[in-house]
Amino acid sequence: MHILIVEDEKKLAALLRRVLVEERHSVDVAHDGDSGFDLAASDTYDLVILDVMLPGMDGVEIVKQVRDVNVSTPVLMLTARGAIEDRVLGLRSGADDYLVKPFAMVELLARVEALLRRRSHGLEVSEQLAVGDLTMDLTRHEVRRGTHEIELTAKEFALLEYLMRNAGRVLSRSQITDHVWRYDLDALSNVVDTYIHYLRDKVDRGFGQPLIKTVRGIGYKVGD
Ligand code: CA
Repeated sequence: MHILIVEDEKKLAALLRRVLVEERHSVDVAHDGDSGFDLAASDTYDLVILDVMLPGMDGVEIVKQVRDVNVSTPVLMLTARGAIEDRVLGLRSGADDYLVKPFAMVELLARVEALLRRRSHGLEVSEQLAVGDLTMDLTRHEVRRGTHEIELTAKEFALLEYLMRNAGRVLSRSQITDHVWRYDLDALSNVVDTYIHYLRDKVDRGFGQPLIKTVRGIGYKVGD
């Protein structure tokens, strides 16, 4: 899918871009409101991720004007303020969803996928991930090892989903932190190790072949 990011915080824009490219989207970035509007109004995108506070035109104004020229691309607003007024204004102006900064990348990806799914005419495809006999049903939020259902907390689920989406690839602790925890959070260095430990207890212990692997000095992966 073709996604436009309009975000003036360059570090965040770069991180968003990287995360979406990893999900095999093609991504353009604008760092100010005016060029963001020009690109969004070109109606060539499947989704626009739009910061509210921007130099030049602000995000709310961009959505209004884009809708005025009959562009129906889904818009996900990012707001730093978190004020109710902002959200209401954003949605009323024609945005489809919003996220309050700071957010976790998994949360962003979930919203992006939901909006893209809606875009593809609500074709109900049940989304499943599988590694060996470990399966994750994203629609039902269920995880199974073989026929055995595994109960996970929200964070454990998000961590396992990220690992399974990247099955066979080694993910560093900082990649995992960026995706599963908030991007601005200097997560304690052992938070990833702690959650991997929780996951192993639930997903691997007592099931023979362990699926979660430690790659020494780098990070973790699931599968071969
Ligand atoms: Ca901004």
